[in-house]
Amino acid sequence: MREFLFHGEPTPKLKEFLEGLKEALQRRGYLFHPEAEAPQLVLNAITPESPRPYRRRAQATFVASTMELSRFPENPVQSLYLYLVRALSNVLMVYVPSEGVKFLTLELGHYNELAGDGFFERVADRLAPLADSRLVINNVFEPDLEPELWQGDEKTESMYRAGKKLKAWDLLPAPFPIEEILPPEDLRHVRRLYGIGGLSYGNLSVRKDERRFWMSASGVDKANLREIGREILMVKDYDPIKNAIVLSVPPHVEPRRVSVDAIEHWMIYREHPGVGAILHVHAWMEGVPATSFNYPCGTCELAQAVAEKVREAPDPTRAVVGLKNHGLTIMGHSLDEIMERIEGRLIRTVPMI
Ligand SMILES: [Zn+2]
Repeated sequence: MREFLFHGEPTPKLKEFLEGLKEALQRRGYLFHPEAEAPQLVLNAITPESPRPYRRRAQATFVASTMELSRFPENPVQSLYLYLVRALSNVLMVYVPSEGVKFLTLELGHYNELAGDGFFERVADRLAPLADSRLVINNVFEPDLEPELWQGDEKTESMYRAGKKLKAWDLLPAPFPIEEILPPEDLRHVRRLYGIGGLSYGNLSVRKDERRFWMSASGVDKANLREIGREILMVKDYDPIKNAIVLSVPPHVEPRRVSVDAIEHWMIYREHPGVGAILHVHAWMEGVPATSFNYPCGTCELAQAVAEKVREAPDPTRAVVGLKNHGLTIMGHSLDEIMERIEGRLIRTVPMI
């Protein structure tokens, strides 16, 4: 049973909005249960002055923070992202009475659902698939990486080169400084429950052999990918029982988490032996086929939606897939080949719809 509850103190208008949304969710089979131990969804009312978090007890709990403003801000990411993070939310919904709702996602997506016919249904249509998606962000570290790979190889060198080039093309926004805005206790919460080692945007990976691939770590500067186990991880498998990514690391390092998109890359490498490298950037290209829903990073649903688009491409080994309201995932034979192919073709602004 999918349960949901309210948290926080809504303003009177925000309360009306939440009541309308509650009915729309109930029509979708959600059960309102104020005392639920591990709810699927929490609607957390905050104010700009006090973006208080709801503390999840379970990783599967999706927190949508809601806040009332008198108008939509002009630069939603700049002016609102802080509240999304401070309230430890998966998504932020800004309600502007008689205008509608603006969504802001962790992936920097932002889009409106405007007031009018079927408003609450449309908001629920945007929200429910996010809340129902399943994160695959647990990491299992096994200290069994072969000694000859402890310093990396020619493939990790190609990751270093590609990262430098992305930086030169100005496609690596600075990692969002969550350490600076979250107290240590909240940081631990974020690491444990979202699986992120920091917010940085984009990732890259290279196939090592039939079953394994190298991938960038979570929250690190992609312009300087060198240290194995810290900045670059060896992904060797996905464990469906533990719902975890399995990583081979050198025995002497304190490993960092792999990028949350590892499950997506794992699916693509397993299905397409010809894919040798994958790059993900928050940018766009004209005319690319795109996923029809913006599932969150690190979820099975996003991985499957991207894998489906790769499958449909005329040449899956060189596919370019748009991730709605988010960015691009680009397949290739090697990172050098991908970088050569996309040079000069990337548009920095991702369309938001
Ligand atoms: Zn992304």
